[in-house]
Amino acid sequence: MSWVMSQWPFPPHRMAPHIPAAQSHYDRLAWHPPRGGEPPGRVLRWTCDCEEVVYELVALGGLRFIRRTALRGGKGVIHESDRWSLHAANAMWDALLTGNAR
Ligand SMILES: [Zn+2]
Repeated sequence: MSWVMSQWPFPPHRMAPHIPAAQSHYDRLAWHPPRGGEPPGRVLRWTCDCEEVVYELVALGGLRFIRRTALRGGKGVIHESDRWSLHAANAMWDALLTGNAR
């Protein structure tokens, strides 16, 4: 992988990461229905959309959260995590991608 590719901050979807199997003692995130009436937010990171469950790291109103979209019966079922500050949200995203949170 070239330097340019490894520094690319927003990879196309086919290069997005996959969620690994959860570790034996992973953090269980609280998942809430979307609040509604809010703008969609800005998607900063996402997982590969070849999976039945896609996660996105979303920035909205100075906070960040993880949006989970599960494809069930051809429909996307959306849940949202708690909302966190920038650093806490990045830590949660890393935990998600390492199987330490789900
Ligand atoms: Zn994939």
